[in-house]
Amino acid sequence: MAYPKVVIIGGGFGGINVAKALKKAKVDIYMIDKKNHHLFQPLLYQVASAALSPADVATPLREILRNQKNTTVMMGEVASIEKEKKFLKLTNGDIFSYDYLVVATGASHSYFGNEQWEPIAPGLKTVMDALRIREKILISFEKAERSDSIEDAAKYLNFVIIGGGPTGVEMAGSIAEIAHKTMFKNFRRIRPEKSKIYLIEGNSRVLPPYPKSLSIRAKKDLERMGVRVLTGKIVTNITKDGVQVGDDFIEARNIIWAAGNQASPLIKTLNIPLDRQGRAMVEKDLSIPDHPEIFVIGDAACFIGKKGAPLPGIAPVAIQMARYVGKVIKRGLPKTKRISFKYFDKGSIATIGKARAVGYVGKFKLQGWFAWLGWGFIHIAYLVCYRSRFTVMLEWCFHYFTGLRGARIIHHSIDESKK
Ligand SMILES: Cc1cc2nc3c(=O)[nH]c(=O)nc-3n(C[C@H](O)[C@H](O)[C@H](O)COP(=O)(O)OP(=O)(O)OC[C@H]3O[C@@H](n4cnc5c(N)ncnc54)[C@H](O)[C@@H]3O)c2cc1C
Repeated sequence: MAYPKVVIIGGGFGGINVAKALKKAKVDIYMIDKKNHHLFQPLLYQVASAALSPADVATPLREILRNQKNTTVMMGEVASIEKEKKFLKLTNGDIFSYDYLVVATGASHSYFGNEQWEPIAPGLKTVMDALRIREKILISFEKAERSDSIEDAAKYLNFVIIGGGPTGVEMAGSIAEIAHKTMFKNFRRIRPEKSKIYLIEGNSRVLPPYPKSLSIRAKKDLERMGVRVLTGKIVTNITKDGVQVGDDFIEARNIIWAAGNQASPLIKTLNIPLDRQGRAMVEKDLSIPDHPEIFVIGDAACFIGKKGAPLPGIAPVAIQMARYVGKVIKRGLPKTKRISFKYFDKGSIATIGKARAVGYVGKFKLQGWFAWLGWGFIHIAYLVCYRSRFTVMLEWCFHYFTGLRGARIIHHSIDESKK
């Protein structure tokens, strides 16, 4: 007798954990991803800021699932889902049928209708994004060194990060460390430590979902590191020369977008109600209306939590959803017998720079060195492979004691770069 066929689209935190939850189940699993690797996005900013190399945060899916005999990994991009006919189509025309479908395709950037900003202000979601940002930052210092005047050099030494959530805060802190510490004494004609780093947030404080006192602490820490934090300010335009913020124009050649998310476009092909971020409005069992065999999880799903607000797009949400769906499929539960998914919020930590972080676990707040240490341990524990755990720990120790960043390689020539 053939086992039920489970197709999982996406090998991120959601997809991988559904597959793992079904390791011993009597099912045939197909994991389809357009990339050949699982990416640990929480440390991607460290690739963008030259602290880690791509292989430290990305692990081949085949490697992760090599001992899981019921799982076949397929590299391919899913173009559409035909939910009534129970099959999906890849961009090359291949067709996959399924008994159960788990859609875990994550999210990409949203420029709120200003897609023309994307080439000038790249966002950070993939390894390629991180490498592009890293190259742009490093080339800027080179261009500044080659500039004829102080004014010209200053344009390359201005960095603007738009969005004061965890990614924006981490990126701003890292660039401050590169400019003020790593690059110190590396140049003769410019002084990288004179770089101006701006972090712009539309909300009245950085890290808006965090308790207010932690937002205040994060802002203070960033300012101590030399970051100019502008809160309650909306970016109205971005050009190749800089950023318009209200009546002010900040001249900059380095602009990073960390402000908005939208679910993967594949979700639209399900033809179901979506929220403003394009996420599937899922039911209590994470399935979609009238299709108990299709689940949407992680950043692609909008699930209303017990506080009446959608659950945030973070790794623990994707992992817990994945484990829940794994159990439902493993037990072959019909919709009427499924209890509701419940998210257990273990808290959150954001790092700001070396020995600086803020976080909370329930009502308990953490800040400074202890929070940073906790952040480090949690991230090491969640990395999917032992090799990455080891290399990341080694790189961090090196960075902690020397302030140096090992991955400062520029792949293109400076004149090839149009930025
Ligand atoms: C820079 C950054 C920093 C972050 N920091 C943190 C943090 O500190 N803590 C935290 O908890 N969370 C953090 N997050 C959020 C966290 O990474 C996400 O919530 C989590 O990755 C969501 O998991 P997912 O499985 O839904 O999607 P993802 O992990 O994004 O995986 C989606 C997968 O689907 C694949 N895919 C997409 N479309 C298709 C298609 N059409 N066909 C085939 N494959 C497809 C992609 O290649 C990808 O592998 C961060 C995210 C970013 C971008």
